[in-house]
Amino acid sequence: MYIILLGAPGAGKGTQVAYLAQNLNLVHIASGDLFRQALEQDTELGRQTRSYMEKGALVPDEVTTKMVLEHLAALDGESGVVLDGFPRNLPQAEALDKALDGSSRAIDGVVFIKVSPEVLLRRLSGRWICRNCQVPYHEVDSPPRVKGRCDRCGGELYQRPDDIAETVKKRLKVYSAETAPLIDYYIRTGRLVEVDGEGSVEDAGKRVIAALERVR
Ligand code: ADP
Ligand code: ZN
Repeated sequence: MYIILLGAPGAGKGTQVAYLAQNLNLVHIASGDLFRQALEQDTELGRQTRSYMEKGALVPDEVTTKMVLEHLAALDGESGVVLDGFPRNLPQAEALDKALDGSSRAIDGVVFIKVSPEVLLRRLSGRWICRNCQVPYHEVDSPPRVKGRCDRCGGELYQRPDDIAETVKKRLKVYSAETAPLIDYYIRTGRLVEVDGEGSVEDAGKRVIAALERVR
């Protein structure tokens, strides 16, 4: 099973995926996490991508698509996969379909998590993420039980440098211009399920699970 999670920055993809991967036993592939790892380890890939990420711009398609497809190819083929943050524009979506074409795999469904722009801005500006397991928290909406520590693994929480106000606005713009058109692409190919991503994590989570049951 291949699932794509689609939604703006702050739509709750990271939160929902933590929930899903646990319950449905899916491998989680998040392009943003892969890039952040490369930055931290200061690899060639990290050096290629740093300036784009700092500006809130998209990393060039050749770099991104190659990285994600390599990760997919390295999986055992047994487990289901949830893709988070990729594809993020039409060329990436087409490259993914093309890569899967002729293999035994295909995209089973695309879950689009819909959240209004006001809620997105608010969520991103108070966001703290676990350095260890990447689960996001929000200072007001979903604070951790112990300040600065992850509920799940005890890891240290930090704020992403691209979560500052100006870069957030830029990322939301890039989303509207480049990623939102994917909604139509997946509707046209009959693979989109839309989910209301507002309200509590649990409620949105239940809706995401129900959507997955429909695409399965
Ligand atoms: P968010 O969804 O919160 O913006 P991500 O962690 O998915 O955050 O991505 C962070 C940054 O990594 C993006 O702003 C972009 O620079 C880069 N990035 C991640 N995925 C892609 C992608 N599929 N194509 C191009 N750039 C990407
Ligand atoms: Zn954690």
